Amino acid sequence: MSNKIIVVGSSNTDLVLKTERFPKPGETILGGDFYTFQGGKGANQAVTAARAGGDVTFVCRLGNDTFGNDAINHYGKENIDVTSIFQDPTAPTGVAVITVNGEGENSIIVASGANALLNVEDVEKAIKNTGETNWFITQLETPIEVIVYLAKYAKDNNKNLVLNPAPAAVLSDEVYDGLFLITPNETETELLTGIKVVDELTASQACEIFKAKGVQNSIITLGSKGAYLSTESYTGIIESKKVKAIDTTAAGDVFNGALIVALSEGKNWKEAVEFACKAAAISVTRMGAQTSAPTRNEIDQ
Ligand code: ATP
Repeated sequence: MSNKIIVVGSSNTDLVLKTERFPKPGETILGGDFYTFQGGKGANQAVTAARAGGDVTFVCRLGNDTFGNDAINHYGKENIDVTSIFQDPTAPTGVAVITVNGEGENSIIVASGANALLNVEDVEKAIKNTGETNWFITQLETPIEVIVYLAKYAKDNNKNLVLNPAPAAVLSDEVYDGLFLITPNETETELLTGIKVVDELTASQACEIFKAKGVQNSIITLGSKGAYLSTESYTGIIESKKVKAIDTTAAGDVFNGALIVALSEGKNWKEAVEFACKAAAISVTRMGAQTSAPTRNEIDQ
């Protein structure tokens, strides 16, 4: 069985500007330091999976612009197969404009740009380019037609599709029916099932709802508490490592990126979630999103 992984999702350039305070409408102020980072849930998960040792193809749509070219170079350096990254002739690369004030609060505006134009033909081409692949992971930052297509493709071709349903959105039955695994956090679980997860019982009730909709396995991430699994071979909570968290940005993306690598290597459910929890625990001790994703050596130690 091939252990190749196709990550389908968003790629943004994050433009981060520090400022003492946010400007009022109509006001111009001088800010402080400025940084650019690669972001987007798809990209974060692809980079994490590649650093964790996965054989990763990333499928996304960028602009034919400087941000897009820089992103492709960056993913190539991360050992990601970039042959299925498409550059749109008209739309710009997605950006997130992030301002952070003196109190550490942020305000973020995302312009999806080319992410909103990722389409079924892109994914079909990627599947053809990549060859035999059994593992697919996606999120909800790209058009829903792509997710519906992936779910149907996975069901018809007996492939394993993981959906990290973030940001949460209502899903149709045909999506649920094609999922090997769903990995919501507590907020997303409540939006999707109506159940507020407060303990193991409520987590298991939410997973039963996913199962009734046709999802084969469910994992609810519980932040510093770890993750609840309802899978073929293990049911219950796997606790997080105790660490001093300094920035939990993208903890969920690191969890998902590491998890799919472990599953693609044939680890069982418990081992795979332990691996993902380790990777995510390391990431919360560091600043940033992709910058915080650990290497395979760091996870194994
Ligand atoms: P984010 O939105 O910050 O990316 P999320 O809400 O999608 O995260 P969480 O459930 O908060 O996802 O966290 C995902 C995983 O990260 C958890 O299952 C856990 O393994 C790990 N994690 C998160 N916070 C901590 C923490 N404080 N200490 C250790 N591990 C953590």
